Amino acid sequence: MVNNGLANNLTKEYVLALAGNPNSGKTSLFNSLTGSRQHVGNWPGVTVEKKEGSYVSGGNTIRVIDLPGTYSLGALSEDEAVARDYIINEKPDVVVNIVDSTNIERNMYLTSQLLEMGAKVIVALNMYDEAKSKNIEIDINGLSNILGVPVLPTIATKSQGLDELTGLFFKAAGSEYNKPLIINYGKEIEEVINKLSDEIKNEAGLLERYNTRWLAVKILEDDAGIKNNIKKYKVYEKLEKIRNESVKRLESLWGDDIEAVIAEKRYGFIKGIVKETVKRQMSAEEKLTVTDKIDMVVTNRFLGIPIFLLAVWGIFQFTFTLGNPLADLIEAFFGWFGGFVRGGIQGAGAPELVVSLIVDGIIGGAGSVLVFMPNIFLLFFAISILEDSGYMARAAYIMDRFMHILGLHGKSFIPMIVGFGCNVPGVLATRTLENKRDRLVSILINPLMSCSARLPVYILFTGAFFSANQGIVIFSLYLLGIVLAIGVGVVFKKLVFKGETSHFVMELPPYRFPTLKSTFIHMWDRGSDFIKKAGTIIVAVVVLVWVLSSLPAGVEYASRESLLGQIGAFISPIFKPAGFGTWEAAVALLFGVVAKEVVVGTLGVVYGVQDEGLQSVIAKMWTPLSAYSFMVMTLIYIPCVATIGAIKRETNSWAWTLFAIGYSLVLGWVMSVLVYQVGSLLGFA
Ligand code: GDP
Ligand code: MG
Repeated sequence: MVNNGLANNLTKEYVLALAGNPNSGKTSLFNSLTGSRQHVGNWPGVTVEKKEGSYVSGGNTIRVIDLPGTYSLGALSEDEAVARDYIINEKPDVVVNIVDSTNIERNMYLTSQLLEMGAKVIVALNMYDEAKSKNIEIDINGLSNILGVPVLPTIATKSQGLDELTGLFFKAAGSEYNKPLIINYGKEIEEVINKLSDEIKNEAGLLERYNTRWLAVKILEDDAGIKNNIKKYKVYEKLEKIRNESVKRLESLWGDDIEAVIAEKRYGFIKGIVKETVKRQMSAEEKLTVTDKIDMVVTNRFLGIPIFLLAVWGIFQFTFTLGNPLADLIEAFFGWFGGFVRGGIQGAGAPELVVSLIVDGIIGGAGSVLVFMPNIFLLFFAISILEDSGYMARAAYIMDRFMHILGLHGKSFIPMIVGFGCNVPGVLATRTLENKRDRLVSILINPLMSCSARLPVYILFTGAFFSANQGIVIFSLYLLGIVLAIGVGVVFKKLVFKGETSHFVMELPPYRFPTLKSTFIHMWDRGSDFIKKAGTIIVAVVVLVWVLSSLPAGVEYASRESLLGQIGAFISPIFKPAGFGTWEAAVALLFGVVAKEVVVGTLGVVYGVQDEGLQSVIAKMWTPLSAYSFMVMTLIYIPCVATIGAIKRETNSWAWTLFAIGYSLVLGWVMSVLVYQVGSLLGFA
């Protein structure tokens, strides 16, 4: 509890942490409690999203923290570590544990862990309406007695049970900590727990922070995260010794590892609770639920993949058919606005340099980010619907077998498909992946998917040289991107992220009608966040490019004499083995980092022609082979700044962002050199 410093302790700030399994209704409850007073950020140092909000009740402010959705509080994933560390270190006044009433048995695993930790818990039996309609009867008082904490039914989507929840919250916050839950792990394990506990009790630093018994169990489970945190204490070595000796003995006794035995005991305990407090009346027609029936079609061995591809195609169509005209409108608006501002400040007598900075640099730069907005928002709208309805879990399930062969998660497929439209939402779409490693790999390979911005470049060069089989040549580039993405993904999984198995429970939540409100909130959360973060980076880079093109003072904008032209001339020899070692090509690639379609416009500027005349100039100055090699380079080299912004935003790491830039540059160079050299050998030069 934090006193906010106002006079005479009248108002206080409390902290409520929401914990629960994915799909238990956490976000819905969070939204119902806090309304629009929300803030989305990242947990420090990790890629896990942090949501915070607040509401006021009886003059007191309750800060609500939405912990990541998890099935457990082990150390398996970053999400679990974040949730656990928050509860241990920040000690929220109360942890509200949201439980899906229709699936109490599975949800109770997390509940039991929270209670063992000694957190002050209130259990919200959410989706109570669904439990009712499924004829699931829950003995709420009985459950509350067994668990030793308050239990109440809620319907998050209808804001039912929230006042009671707040009432219980204040009551719990003002009371003593509840007695931690004690699960009996059996005589042998209990003996070790006691031995460990005795040692822990000698260390004040540990006592202060952890529940003794819980810590002992964690040590027994060999929990890497916890071990790391307590390494600094003197007693650590002793604890390790006790653990290792006892565990060796016990494991040889059981022929099974101790973690499995402990988990089994927990499940047994939970099964017992459920048996005692939950009754399920099955009616004849209920045996096959609607969900079961839909799943029979959707996850069918033969129909599953076609339906999935149809869904992806649907998202794609929805996002880009609806989004592109809107993007054009935004682009047109910025064109008009730039002209308008130019006229205005020129009229006011501003120097040309300032006019150009404002119009070409800042307005142009902001425009180049904002044109992505419709696509991003529409994409997230569509993805939210698929997620909330429960279909996304099926899609992952269907693709999982195929993607697993590549060492990737089934869900990695969706960002790749999305990347064909634009790598920015492609990178953002990796958010559906829970496993950090899978997510990183998916982010890193996404820029290899040929986004629509590469298309103008392909069209220009194939138009100049391959007009007879333009379609096939362009298709070959798309295919090259996919093959490289898969190859690079496999290599990264093998080399960079080796030894990391992704523990993934194939959860298939029941189908639900998504509410418009939650869909919009999801869309807004993800979309607006990107615009803010990536926007600042892009505008900065655009201004930098502008400065380089305008200096030294007095040169023609983006000419050979400008700094940019000089840099282009300086780096162009690198591209000689790839067949396009001219300063114009180098500058086009440099500018192309701002946005890949800019390659075309830049070539137009540096060759001093409009777009229409460009094709014939290119046909004269290039060869079919150097053109193809250049297209390969355009496909692979450095993601555009918007994508770089998205990668930085999503990985939360400059190191990975620089890695994405570096590996793609090297790969692009190698591939285009390979194309040019092999092509020359075969006589295509
Ligand atoms: P989270 O993954 O835990 O954040 O879960 P969400 O809040 O996104 O909810 C998952 C789905 O369950 C959404 O489609 C919600 O609309 C739905 N949902 C959440 N709470 C309830 C509830 O109390 N009753 C019903 N019928 N649906 C709910
Ligand atoms: Mg959620």
